[in-house]
Amino acid sequence: MNYASTRNSSLSVTSAHAIVKGLSDEGGLYIPKSIPALSEEEITSLCGKSYVERAYEVFSRFLTDFTEEELRHCVESAYNTKNFDTDNISEITKLNGGRYILELWHGPTCAFKDMALQILPYFLTTSAKKTVDGKQIAILVATSGDTGKAALEGFKDVQGTSISVFYPEDGVSPMQKRQMTTQEGKNVNVCAIKGNFDDCQNGVKAIFTNKEIEEKLAKNNILLSSANSINWGRLVPQIVYYVSAYAQLVADKEITFGEKINIVVPTGNFGNILAAYYAKRMGIPVNKLICASNSNNVLTDFINTGVYDRNRKFYTTVSPSMDILISSNLERMLYHLTDENDALINDWFGKLKADGRYEVNEDVKKKLGELFYAGCCSDDETKAAIRRTFDEEKYLLDTHTAVAVKVYDDYKSKTGDNTKTIIASTANPYKFVRAVYEAVGGNPDGDEFDIIEKLEEKTKTKIPAPLASTRNKEIRFTNCVEKQNMSGVVLDFLKS
Ligand SMILES: *Cc1c(COP(=O)(O)O)cnc(C)c1O
Repeated sequence: MNYASTRNSSLSVTSAHAIVKGLSDEGGLYIPKSIPALSEEEITSLCGKSYVERAYEVFSRFLTDFTEEELRHCVESAYNTKNFDTDNISEITKLNGGRYILELWHGPTCAFKDMALQILPYFLTTSAKKTVDGKQIAILVATSGDTGKAALEGFKDVQGTSISVFYPEDGVSPMQKRQMTTQEGKNVNVCAIKGNFDDCQNGVKAIFTNKEIEEKLAKNNILLSSANSINWGRLVPQIVYYVSAYAQLVADKEITFGEKINIVVPTGNFGNILAAYYAKRMGIPVNKLICASNSNNVLTDFINTGVYDRNRKFYTTVSPSMDILISSNLERMLYHLTDENDALINDWFGKLKADGRYEVNEDVKKKLGELFYAGCCSDDETKAAIRRTFDEEKYLLDTHTAVAVKVYDDYKSKTGDNTKTIIASTANPYKFVRAVYEAVGGNPDGDEFDIIEKLEEKTKTKIPAPLASTRNKEIRFTNCVEKQNMSGVVLDFLKS
């Protein structure tokens, strides 16, 4: 299995190369040349297996340049109870009305990013050995909150690597900020940016494509790489949990084998929902992929009209990990939907860069409409969904998952579709405690940890241990810079 780039379909590199480089030289994203299918027998056989075994099966189809021993080392090192608070790695909670909450936040940072970022360091160090042995890998991350912390936890003190994280000064929750600024480890750096997430992401992309910086670092034997969801090594682990969830629902006799399901994903950068699309392409029976957005509803408009237009107001919402106006992974989706037409991708993404806007052709619009349903909701509707779900089912949603629940409930009442539905739950509610506490009727003023205690008491739920432990940790990182100074921060940290 080799990989092309969305902006150069004739490129052909190994998965190790794609994982080490992150972004292709001409600015495109690496993409598998074909999508491997699992046969019915293969999917059936997954039903009785563990998460580690299911993960191994999926990875062995995509990372064909890894040996069996290497892959087993990666999956076993990442998906175990040292890192996750459950043997199952992810859990499924059944709500009424055929809704299944796929809890992807049982890892060390309590967000779904752990599902990929616990394994990425193993993929990356294995890949580096194959392609650039001896080089120091410097990871750069732009984060809207959860990726940064998950990447820091994944890479902390991993030999041969270092990690620099940039987050928007006012664009993350207090708990997310606390988690990042108290990060331990010798090879880590965290810096706030005076700007929003798109500024952070653009800044990181600019560093990646800057030849001068590349040469400077090369002199010190350092190679830049990415832990953002533009990296293929981030995406492929996300396919696993959709495949695994399907197998689990069959094993639990919640669905019969072959029965179609819907998948709802609270979406920002389009990585998580793209992974669900890949799971469908691999053979998991999926009816609709439902793309849920908050007030930053650029994807809702795009899927419904075919026009992508980022020239709009940017909202800071109670679901900050989805406060994004440029969804990078959409480029991969469109590459597939245009039958790998790199000229069209170059044209559209050139327009996006120049004018902030592009419109896809009729064929792609039609395919988008068949594959997806898209909807969005306001902060008030998000909080109402948390309240309703707690009142009716005693289940506490985080703000991102609540967006997905609200958009799904709208979809169901609009269409009458009764297909059983997996709702990706992307964070534990204690990461966004103010909005969640307010949603269930509390007064969210005061100290973060006071609110946490009140939420525990009110809802009879418990803060996860990794979040509780940030309370007494020392704040290590207080730096905040203008967006044009990001490269200086990186070069300083890497002493280049
Ligand atoms: C990152 C994140 C999202 C958005 O996921 P994408 O893959 O960027 O679409 C949603 N919810 C939470 C809690 C997140 O951390």
